Amino acid sequence: MNIVRLTYASRLKKPLGHAALEKIMDVSRRNNKKLGVTGALCSSPRGFLQILEGPAAAVNDLYNRIVRDPRHSQVTLLEYVKVPFREFENWSMAYIRTDEIAKALLHKYSTHHVFDPFSMGPMQARVFLLAITELRAHYLAKQHAGSRTRSS
Ligand code: FAD
Repeated sequence: MNIVRLTYASRLKKPLGHAALEKIMDVSRRNNKKLGVTGALCSSPRGFLQILEGPAAAVNDLYNRIVRDPRHSQVTLLEYVKVPFREFENWSMAYIRTDEIAKALLHKYSTHHVFDPFSMGPMQARVFLLAITELRAHYLAKQHAGSRTRSS
């Protein structure tokens, strides 16, 4: 099967609250599971950075839908490539808010002290999203272990 990876950046039309972002994530995870799409989304007051990976037809259709979404604008394609395998295979859509990201990590991947999705090239965006997704996985695993310890 042809797997493609699509990366884009966009600007928020107006600030989105926690509930609105959670809504986008709920719908995304539900749909992406059905479509066989995996990836990661990073949100910040300056915009979104998202990677979608999966079968070309599913990724293309989904991207067309996302581009038309009125909750953001200036949707800008950073990369569209065929890839031999997925890198976010365990995530129907990993979600990270930049206020949860340590400044040191931002400094490592960006020339800006504040995260701006438009300041990153496709390779930077990919390694940045992989790094923060890995941190998220560690955090979730720790939380899971903590709740097991508390209940045992
Ligand atoms: P519907 O059932 O039509 O809508 C789902 C819910 O979203 C509705 O209950 C509605 O309350 C809410 N909603 C829809 N549009 C708006 C709006 N304009 N304002 C407020 N609430 C609204 N979708 C995915 O499937 N996968 C993704 O990975 C994905 N990533 C996204 C990333 C970003 C940055 C944004 C802004 C949107 C993303 N979306 C994603 C959402 C996508 O644009 C479509 O809204 C969604 O795919 C529609 O799916 P549906 O037809 O199943 O939803």
